[in-house]
Formats: sequence, C-alpha cells, structure tokens
Amino acid sequence: MINKKSVKDIDVSGKRVLVRCDFNVPLDKETGEITSDKRIVESLKTINYLIHNNAKLVLCSHIGKTGKNISLLPVAKRLSKLLGREVRLITDLDSEETKDIISNLKEKDVVLLENTRMTEKEEANDLEFAKKLASFGEIFVNDAFGTAHRAHASTEGVTHFLPSVCGFLIEKEIEALDKDINSPERPLVAIIGGAKVSSKIGVLLNLLDKVDTLLIGGAMAYTFVKAQGGSIGNSLCEEEKLDIAAEILKKALDKGVRMLLPVDNVIATEVSNNAKIKVCQIDDIPEGYIGVDIGPKTIELYKGEIEVANTIVWNGPMGIFEYKAFEDGTRKIAEAMANSSAITIIGGGDSTAAVEKFGLESKMSHVSTGGGASLEFIEGKKLPGIEALLDK
Ligand code: ADP
Ligand code: MG
Repeated sequence: MINKKSVKDIDVSGKRVLVRCDFNVPLDKETGEITSDKRIVESLKTINYLIHNNAKLVLCSHIGKTGKNISLLPVAKRLSKLLGREVRLITDLDSEETKDIISNLKEKDVVLLENTRMTEKEEANDLEFAKKLASFGEIFVNDAFGTAHRAHASTEGVTHFLPSVCGFLIEKEIEALDKDINSPERPLVAIIGGAKVSSKIGVLLNLLDKVDTLLIGGAMAYTFVKAQGGSIGNSLCEEEKLDIAAEILKKALDKGVRMLLPVDNVIATEVSNNAKIKVCQIDDIPEGYIGVDIGPKTIELYKGEIEVANTIVWNGPMGIFEYKAFEDGTRKIAEAMANSSAITIIGGGDSTAAVEKFGLESKMSHVSTGGGASLEFIEGKKLPGIEALLDK
C-alpha cells in the first residue's frame, strides 16, 4: 500500500512552495485560446488550500511537447481570473529580476514558471535544471498525476533537493488506484476493453491477482475468442498475441478468477455510422464483417456482474464508441456503473473520454486524470513522481 504525505501533513505557512501542476490544457490551434480549462479548475483545490494556509506559491507545469515552446501565458491569465488575484508568469528562470521576485514573495502570492518543457533538460531529468527549479521553493508539492509515471526534472528531479509531498489530486488518485484496488471491498470486478491485448497485458496479468471477476470487451475480445478457436471474420486480432491470450485465459482458470468474454456482438461491414449492422454470436462472425461493439446479451450479462460488485474498475471502451452506431455497449456499461452503489473507478484516456462524452463523470467515484499514468498504476508499476514523495 502506498502511504504518502500530503500538503495537509506539513506546515506550509510562510514557506515558498513549489507546486507541480498539470496545466497541459488544450489550446485552439488558430487563436491560441484555452479550449478546456478543466485541468486548471481541478488544480484549484490544492492551490486554494496553500493560499488559505499562507504559503507563497511558485507553480510550474509543462504544456505541449518539448520543442514546441508553447507559453503558459494563457494559463497564467485564466488562473488569475479563477483565483481573483494576480498570477505573474516568470519567463526567465536565470535572471536577477526573477531572483528578486521569488525572494520578495509575500504570503498568498502566486507566480507561475514558464513551461518546463521549454528546455530539453526537463524530460532528460537534468540534475542542474532540477536544482534550479528546486531553488524557487522550500517545499515541493506534486499534483500532476498525468506525468507522475515519468521521471522528469519537475516531477522527480526536484524531490532530491526538497521535502516533497503530494497535492489533493494525486492523493485522490492514490486512494482510488491503490487502496480501492489493492484492498478492495469485494467482489472486485474489472472491465477491460479497448483496442489491443498487447497494450493491456500488464494490466490483465496484474488484475488477475486481485479481482474476483474479469469482464472483457472491445477489440481485444477477438484475440481471446480466436485463441479459443472461434471465427471472428475481419475483426481486429493480434495474431502474435494468440499465445499470451490463451495463457491469460488459463491463468484465470488456475487462479479461480471468473474471466468472461462477450457472448454476442454487433458486427458491421465497415467502420461508419451508415454501415449495415447485425448482431451475432461472438465466435461465429461471417467473413467480410468486423466486430464493432458488444451485443445486447453481453450487455445484460455484464450488467448483472456490475450489480453484485462492490468495487468496479473499468479501463478500455467496449466498442468503437467514437461512432454513434457503435457506442451502445460502452454507454450502457458506463450507465450501469453510474447507477451502481459500488466504488467505481475509471482509468485510461479513451475510457475517461467516453465517460465524459456520456456526461456520467460526476456519477463515478473516481475518473482518473492521467491516461498512461493510471494504466501503469493498474499494472502495479511504481510511478517515479509518487515514489519520490515522503512516506507518512
Ligand atoms: P484507454 O485509452 O481507455 O486505455 P484504449 O486506448 O485501449 O483505451 O482503447 C480505445 C480504443 O479502442 C477506442 O478508440 C475504440 O474505438 C477502440 N475499440 C474498442 N472496441 C473496438 C473494436 N471492436 N474494434 C476496433 N476498435 C475498438
Ligand atoms: Mg487509449
């Protein structure tokens, strides 16, 4: 179990606190305006806590890719509005002026350092750059879960120089992805779908040691169906993963985990909203057809499993939900989870997008903010940006 100190476990009053936020917000390609400020709004919980507790705040974040040199200025402006106080953007980390600004910060002041990925040193976890960042604070708070699986200067490097704790966002991710999955209220049911078995092998193997029931959907189901000798028509299949699929099925049997594959599915002649669709048994798909979603019998079967669960973890859409014609399975499973009284946890970028698309986010116990990071967490990997924080 992971037990890390949070901002609440340390005294921040009067201290300069370096906070790694996730301000990697989407910008309009033409106007450069922020198209969704969700990440900024979510970061307010930790920021406001620090302000109320009289800290001096030095915020930092990356935005976009290294080499793109995108400025955080729009974020500084939006944050100023949301906080109702000035948030100055610091563009030159090395200047004397910056030194002055930082050393003259007053309690409740907030400044934002320019995009950490303006230099290649960030992703290289360059020690000198980390030391520079650390020099702006006396305490480090990591609240950027989406990059916690990467050892970068602003996520891991700085922790070598400052006492480091987590903010409220990371604290909540740990609670959901560690405590609720590793010491769950049983029965624990995992629903795993998405495009590929290959990208989920780690997740599947780790979950086999923890769950009572594993429900499979999405394109990856076809690799399992084929491994059992079924006919899958032209559905997505990873031929080179048939062996590992068979192995996973056997492991489930050996461990006494009920691993269910879809019994029926929606098939189509092409991936388009106008395609002709049919429903058939999952292991009896005619040539020329692609499996695009789980079928109505499978939805009922999985809903029954969701109803008896006390904890449900979901990663990977049940079908090609980006198309209205193929979204039913994903939507109905999401709705069943939303209506359940169980602890409900969603991880993965596309799964989160699906839940948001259906407007069910607020009805889930936890929708992870980090796509790749949440998957690595569910795989049982150690996340460098979390490992480096002080233990309770
Ligand atoms: P996450 O990002 O939540 O981990 P993945 O990236 O593994 O999820 O998978 C998401 C993708 O899987 C979606 O784009 C979806 O269209 C695709 N998908 C789901 N079912 C199928 C299917 N039957 N055939 C092809 N693609 C599918
Ligand atoms: Mg994805």
